[in-house]
Amino acid sequence: TMDDAPLLAVEGVSKSFSGLRAVDGVSFTVAPGEIIGIIGPNGSGKTTLLNTLSGALRPSSGTIRFGGTVLTGLRAHQIARLGLARTFQLVRVMPDLTVAENVATARLFSAPASSSGSDTTGRELLDLVGLGAMHDAPARELTYIDQKRLELARALALRPHLMLLDEWLAGLNPSELETGIALIAKLRERGLTIIMVEHVMDAIRALCGHCIVMNAGSVIARGAPDEVLSDPKVVAAYLGG
Ligand code: ADP
Repeated sequence: TMDDAPLLAVEGVSKSFSGLRAVDGVSFTVAPGEIIGIIGPNGSGKTTLLNTLSGALRPSSGTIRFGGTVLTGLRAHQIARLGLARTFQLVRVMPDLTVAENVATARLFSAPASSSGSDTTGRELLDLVGLGAMHDAPARELTYIDQKRLELARALALRPHLMLLDEWLAGLNPSELETGIALIAKLRERGLTIIMVEHVMDAIRALCGHCIVMNAGSVIARGAPDEVLSDPKVVAAYLGG
């Protein structure tokens, strides 16, 4: 049935940069409503893989299907309008605009509102990410974690079905991390499907039903976080073996 169909199907995706295979034949699927983690040492191809999913980079080979649509070859803005949103490792908010204006401008590029009539307003999005009180503040005055919250609100303003989080939890202190993990869990409860590239293994354990481990462009392990994190191949990859 349609209910069993994956939301995202990545089939044999590779991306080379002048001879270097940064991503090398990666395949995985993501079911609706799940959070999957992508982990692996620095340089293993995680960001390049996300960039091929979001359309920032065109895969050298392979196919990406999102819902019923083949994404391969579409441009980033077309993919965003289909309901695939992302955050960036380096936060990209508009510093001179207020928090509310940042969300409003992001919504201009969103997928059409669903005909069901239930739609989240900008105010609700800011409340959801914990920025309701900062509505009128210029984005540049926000703390680091609040800029991250704002970037997430901007991505949510696209009304996504699938959210790519590129190290969204990086750089947070322990209490902020707890808040951040709770926020991601709340997004899942609201039905959002999430792919997270993350180095914070506590977050991977807390949030992800399963994860894939990349090394040198390839998937070297996949499964439940506790299983893959104790896999000798994975331990060796992190130790540079
Ligand atoms: P990760 O996100 O896991 O740290 P990346 O996807 O950033 O890994 O990088 C994978 C490999 O591809 C690395 O060897 C990196 O140097 C290389 N790479 C990434 N982007 C480019 C690029 N635009 N041009 C050339 N090489 C790149």
